[in-house]
Amino acid sequence: MSSKKSTQSSATFQRMNYIYQLMNVSMMLKNNTGSLLSSNYGKLLLSIGRKGLSRMEPEIKRTICKGCNVLLIPGETASVRLHKKPASRIVWKCLKCSSIRRYNLRPGYELWAEKDEAVIETVSPSDNKEDKSKDKNSEKKA
Ligand SMILES: [Zn+2]
Repeated sequence: MSSKKSTQSSATFQRMNYIYQLMNVSMMLKNNTGSLLSSNYGKLLLSIGRKGLSRMEPEIKRTICKGCNVLLIPGETASVRLHKKPASRIVWKCLKCSSIRRYNLRPGYELWAEKDEAVIETVSPSDNKEDKSKDKNSEKKA
């Protein structure tokens, strides 16, 4: 049962990875179509993550705007500023919808997802190949 769950989440991660790459490629398009496409792919990416109960890496999640789901590229679709006061932080502002996100830069600050106790299971592509080969072997024996 656990192998079925891990392959399911692996397929979800593959879809999410593909859509994230599409977001990046669509931003290369000229005019406004690139950001519209990127925004639609962003919505799709978030909905797939929600449906598959899969969490995105914080580094990837932070590149997607919370307001309009467009890919945040510094200087192109986002402005990035460092603020020292009142606390050391980095401020990302979307240039499409003007939504603002602030992230801590305090020394020693660690996201919960980066802590050791947050990791329950790690899935690597080689695990899936082993599972498939085991399945084939078990079918041959039966
Ligand atoms: Zn936005």
